Amino acid sequence: MFKPDGNYPLQLHGFLRDQNKIWTLSRENYEALKNVQTHTFDVEGNVVKVQFNPARMTSTSAKVDAASISTRRCFLCRENRPPEQNDFHLDEDFYVLVNPYPIFPEHFTIPLKEHLPQLIEGRIMELVRITSELTDEYVVFYNGPKCGASAPDHFHFQAGNKDFLPVFEKGGIKKEKSIWTKSLFSAEVSGIDDGLRKYILIESGSPESITAVFTHFDQAYRDFRDDDTEPLYNLVCARDGDNFRLLVLLREKHRPSYYFAEGLGQILLSPASVDVCGVCITPRQEDFYKVKEEIIKEIFNEVFISSDQLKKLEEII
Ligand SMILES: [Zn+2]
Repeated sequence: MFKPDGNYPLQLHGFLRDQNKIWTLSRENYEALKNVQTHTFDVEGNVVKVQFNPARMTSTSAKVDAASISTRRCFLCRENRPPEQNDFHLDEDFYVLVNPYPIFPEHFTIPLKEHLPQLIEGRIMELVRITSELTDEYVVFYNGPKCGASAPDHFHFQAGNKDFLPVFEKGGIKKEKSIWTKSLFSAEVSGIDDGLRKYILIESGSPESITAVFTHFDQAYRDFRDDDTEPLYNLVCARDGDNFRLLVLLREKHRPSYYFAEGLGQILLSPASVDVCGVCITPRQEDFYKVKEEIIKEIFNEVFISSDQLKKLEEII
């Protein structure tokens, strides 16, 4: 098991406080978050919040195509960061940075020290390890390069308060909606369709088991989809005492049709881990008022794989 040598939550609370003392942009955005407008919906028995957060415009509308990425300076590389942005040395490989455009009351970006592409292959153990170090207070998550990462060229995780995400509230993970369940590498693995999301839930007290199941699944899923590139994943990892839960949210698309619609029909909602875990971000006020249960259902239905596909995955893993 991992033995973190410090009390990371306590250190991170202090790190955020210190950053906000010296960094006006970050301080103002965290202050604004305290009065953020939120609507709460029940969609097919799932809690979904919609947050009107204008500071997220840059991220929501980020151009993530190769040409746009190659012409901008990487904002996760140390030499390009704003002078006020300090880094917290988590370990040999990763820094923790305060995310100055927060969604969570405490929102961190965890970039690899080296500028290497956003690809999960070979790094799932790091996701579970960092989740373990950050304890039950935070979730640690990964947005795939084609599925919500605004820096697909620089490997990074993010972390935020676990109790902020509806899916981690009591009854948020609906195991009773499992289409199938099996035991694999001493982990319990379930394919869940909760009426909104389709995902694989991997649960175990052993980080090695979680890693083994994900690695096995990832390869089988690539073969299943007949695509050598990384499937569209949002990965969200949480620790509950000695137990770990990894949610593999299986996406069909990054952005829904509403995003690309023109004029009044357009809704700027670009779903990544936080959105699909129950906090949908709308940077524009008009979208905040437009998004209701039916639209949420429609968007989730479009950006996740189908229930039929999820059913078929039982046979491949
Ligand atoms: Zn970089």
